[in-house]
This record gives sequence, structure tokens and C-alpha cells, in this order.
Amino acid sequence: MSRIALFPGSFDPITIGHYDVITRALPLFDKIVIGVGQNALKQYMFPLEQRMQWIQQAFARESKIEVAAYEGLTVNYCKAIGAKFMLRGLRNPADFEFEKGVAQANKRMAPELESVFLLTSAGYSSISSSIVRDIMRNQGDYTLFVPESVRVK
Ligand code: ADP
Repeated sequence: MSRIALFPGSFDPITIGHYDVITRALPLFDKIVIGVGQNALKQYMFPLEQRMQWIQQAFARESKIEVAAYEGLTVNYCKAIGAKFMLRGLRNPADFEFEKGVAQANKRMAPELESVFLLTSAGYSSISSSIVRDIMRNQGDYTLFVPESVRVK
């Protein structure tokens, strides 16, 4: 049976923190689906197609990775794609508290689904998409914090 994990997120845009967690999780799974969330109530800086393209290009040489858009409850999407694991990154205690609540609610709704957390690598714990967006808006050097595929014209 193949071990499929979903790594859900907004990826607005993907950062080297996301890239690091996904790359380190590759030996644990047969396939990682990077699920790019599309939530009608959320305002994104970049359209879905752009966010997905940057991720696809970043992992172009990685056959175990798939990139897909999804809407609605993440547990339902896991069921739809046969993912038994949900992968998340933990940067700090705030991430932990938030992720604990989400994981416990998910466990109630889908007992067969296991949440798996990887700690961020040293040096990446302060990188977030929101900081990168702020740097982009203010013409700073965002390339320090994103994979090479992410370039804003
Ligand atoms: P969301 O909108 O769900 O917060 P994000 O795209 O911001 O989506 O994050 C997706 C996942 O990546 C989350 O589990 C988050 O904790 C993790 N993550 C984000 N930035 C980093 C980082 N610098 N290091 C490790 N994990 C990270």
C-alpha cells in the first residue's frame, strides 16, 4: 500500500521553509501531494495558478511530488486522494498550539488520518509567506527566502 501524505497550505508564495519541510519528508512517504488551498473567504496576493506553478517548478525533478488545488475541508480532500497522512511544519509554540487544535479536530472527523509534524530547520523558523509578501511589496530582496522558481516581474 502506498503511503500518501497531503501537505496543505496557502503557499502565497512557497518559501524555503516550506521547501525544506517537504524535501525532508520525502523519505517518509511514497507520494506527497502539495494541496494548494483555495478559500473564497481568503484574500491571496497571488492567484492560484501562479502559486501552483511556482511549487511545480520548484519540485520539477521530484517524481514523488504532486501539486493540486483543493477547496473545502482538508480531511475530505485527504479521503478523496487516499492520503492517510497530513504533513505540517512547526516553527514555534504558536504553530504548535494552532496545529494541535486542528489535528485534534481532524482526528475526531477522520480517525484513520494521522497528522505528522516536522520541526522547521534551524534558521528557517522566522520565515513565513506573510513576511515574504511584505518584503515583496516593499521592493526588498525576497529571493533570499523563496525557491529559485519564485520570481515576481
Ligand atoms: P496556511 O495558510 O495553512 O498557514 P502556509 O502556506 O502558511 O499555509 O503553511 C503551510 C504549512 O507550512 C504549515 O504547516 C506551516 O506551519 C508550514 N510552514 C510555513 N512556513 C514554514 C517554515 N518556515 N518552516 C517550516 N514550516 C513552515
